Amino acid sequence: MKAKLGLGGYFSNPIDDPIKIIRHAYDNGIRFFDTAPSYGGGELWFGEALEGLPRGYHEISTKTKAITYHQLKDDLKNSLETLKSAYIDYYFGHDFIDSVESWHSHSQTLLALKFFKSRKLINKIGVSGNSTEAAVLAIDSGIVDCIMVPHSIMHRQFDNVISYAKMKKVQVITMKNFGSGILLGGNENRMDQKASVSLQNIMNFSIHNSSSDIIIPAVRSVNQLDELLHAYKYSFELSYEGTLQIEKRLTDFLGDDFCRFCNYCRPCDMHGWSMSQPGILKAYLYNDKFNIDMNETYQDYKLNATNCTNCDNLCSKRCPYGIDIKGRLEESHQYFTGGN
Ligand code: SF4
Ligand code: SF4
Repeated sequence: MKAKLGLGGYFSNPIDDPIKIIRHAYDNGIRFFDTAPSYGGGELWFGEALEGLPRGYHEISTKTKAITYHQLKDDLKNSLETLKSAYIDYYFGHDFIDSVESWHSHSQTLLALKFFKSRKLINKIGVSGNSTEAAVLAIDSGIVDCIMVPHSIMHRQFDNVISYAKMKKVQVITMKNFGSGILLGGNENRMDQKASVSLQNIMNFSIHNSSSDIIIPAVRSVNQLDELLHAYKYSFELSYEGTLQIEKRLTDFLGDDFCRFCNYCRPCDMHGWSMSQPGILKAYLYNDKFNIDMNETYQDYKLNATNCTNCDNLCSKRCPYGIDIKGRLEESHQYFTGGN
C-alpha cells in the first residue's frame, strides 16, 4: 500500500518562510498537514497559509499535552482559533505514548478527547510517542483512531507495532522518515555522495515498504520540498534484497550504533531535559561524517560529558541500540574541544 505524503510542521531553522512552504505544498497536491502548538510558530503558520481554502479537501493534525479535561478544553479552543478552523481532523495526545507511565497518566485526557470527538470538534483521536509497549496499549484501548510513531529504513522498532495497528484497523502516521535529516546527510543530500543512498530510496522505503498510511517529513525550504515531491512521484516498492542492500550501505557508513534520535534516553537521570544527549550526538555525527561545521552548535550546549559525573551511564540502559552514551558524549567532547 502506498503511503500518502504529508507535510511535517517542525520547521527547524527554515531557509524559506514556512507559510510559503505550506502554500507550495498545497499547490503541489499535499493535503495532510501536521503541526503542534509547541513547534515554534507552527499552528499560526498553518492557520495563515491555509486560511480561506475549502475545508474538507485537506486535513490538519495538531497536538495537545493536556493532562486534565480543563487543560484540554483550553488547548483545543486555542488550536481551533489559531488554525482558523471549525474542527481538527487529527488531534494527537503529544508524547502520550512515550512510556507506559505516560499512557496511564493521560487517562482523563483521553476521555475528554472522546467527548470532544462526540461534539465533532475532533474527527480522529491520535497519540504520538516513542514507546512500542505504550503504542500497543493505545491500539488495544479502543479509544485511539491513529498512532504517530518514528519509522524509517534504519529505525525499525515499530515494524511489529505497525502491523498490529493495521490488523486492529488503527491508522498509522510515521514521523522521522528521514531520521531527522541524518539519512540524507543533512540538507544537501550528502548521503548520496557518502554512502550511495539516494533520497529516492529512503522515500521508496517509507512510501511503499513501511505500511505507513501517511508520512510527514519536515523541510526547511521550497527546494527541499520539491525534491521530496519528485521522489514521491517516482517512488516504487523496494525488493527485499534492495532493502537489505540499502541498509548495509547505511550501516557500513554510519556504523550500526549511530544515534537515531529516538529520544528514549531522555530525560537525563541527573540533569533532566537540560541535557540533550541526542542533540550532542547529532552534532558529533554531522561534523564527523558529513563535514558540516557543528562547532558552534556544540558550544551552545550548556551541559555536556563533563556533567556526566556521579552517573553510572544510566541513560544508556534505555537506548535500544546499545549506545554507550556516556562514552560517546566523552568522545564528542574530546572531538569538539580537544578535551579542554
Ligand atoms: S550518562 Fe550523563 S547523560 Fe546519561 S544519565 Fe548519566 S549524567 Fe545523564
Ligand atoms: S542515544 Fe540511543 S536512546 Fe538516545 S536518542 Fe540516540 S538512539 Fe535514541
